[in-house]
Amino acid sequence: MDDKTKELIRQCRKIAGRHRVDDGKDFRLKDTDPGDTGHWSEGDKALGEEALAQGKIALATMQERLYAQDRWSVLLIFQAMDAAGKDGAIKHVMSGINPQGCQVTAFGVPSAREQDHTWLWRCMTELPERGRIGIFNRSYYEETLVARVHPKILAAQKLAPSLVTDEIWSERFDDIRGFEKHLARNGTLVLKFFLHISKGEQRRRFLSRLDEPEKNWKFRMGDVDEREHWKDYQEAYEKTIRNTATKDAPWFVIPADHKWYTRIVVAAAIVEALDSLDLHLPEVDDAQKAVLEEARKRLTKAKTES
Ligand code: ADP
Repeated sequence: MDDKTKELIRQCRKIAGRHRVDDGKDFRLKDTDPGDTGHWSEGDKALGEEALAQGKIALATMQERLYAQDRWSVLLIFQAMDAAGKDGAIKHVMSGINPQGCQVTAFGVPSAREQDHTWLWRCMTELPERGRIGIFNRSYYEETLVARVHPKILAAQKLAPSLVTDEIWSERFDDIRGFEKHLARNGTLVLKFFLHISKGEQRRRFLSRLDEPEKNWKFRMGDVDEREHWKDYQEAYEKTIRNTATKDAPWFVIPADHKWYTRIVVAAAIVEALDSLDLHLPEVDDAQKAVLEEARKRLTKAKTES
């Protein structure tokens, strides 16, 4: 690895480390500032964007190795309040990588078929294969967020009343920790991103969806309804992160009031995590070298034919 790459990874570690939660027990959402921009100020935005561009180049190289090595898979989970910039962060950060090695799945309100299975089922079927990066835009975490904020969602899940006790949320946290441990033990790197936007910035973004015609399509009245449950959602996020942030599957609580900074942190966290996998292109052994040599001979001969 050259010095420039080493320095980039050092920077990524520093940036990501600031926002990583891998032991949730003391986590408090109010200790994190949605307007934080790390060691950059709004005036340094161009420098930040340059850092993002570098991070994306590193990411593309690492993804190629991940794919070629075919040993690990990577699951990136994005959760956020509406308008926090999940879609934009996914689009920007992943824009340089080979689409063949990456798949994005968005999880909306479960279908009737999905409701006939346990809540992890629909996510299991979308897990990334070895060598791939899977991105979940929302995920099984909705089961301790929207389902907790709206009792009617839990009530519609066809669970027998004897299964819906006061323990249901801690049982779900338990299931999630177990599931993520299983993934980690079997070669899936799991990173979870909570894009943390302030209520004021969400209001500004909703208003811009009304004011700017090219953003009108993004507006949904349901988002304004959900905003009325802001406090409940913040509490649900805090409890979720407290109970599911582990070394196996850390949360990154990423300030989301400044989109440029959000994207830098997301890229830094992914670069740092991929670096920890020690990815490399598969080594060619003597038998394969002989096959390559044989292929060279045949192709060289073919050239003289035309
Ligand atoms: P997004 O808001 O992510 O851009 P949509 O506008 O399609 O995407 O909204 C998806 C909706 O599906 C959200 O309101 C979300 O809370 C809801 N949803 C996702 N998973 C579940 C679930 N397991 N149970 C109930 N609602 C869910």
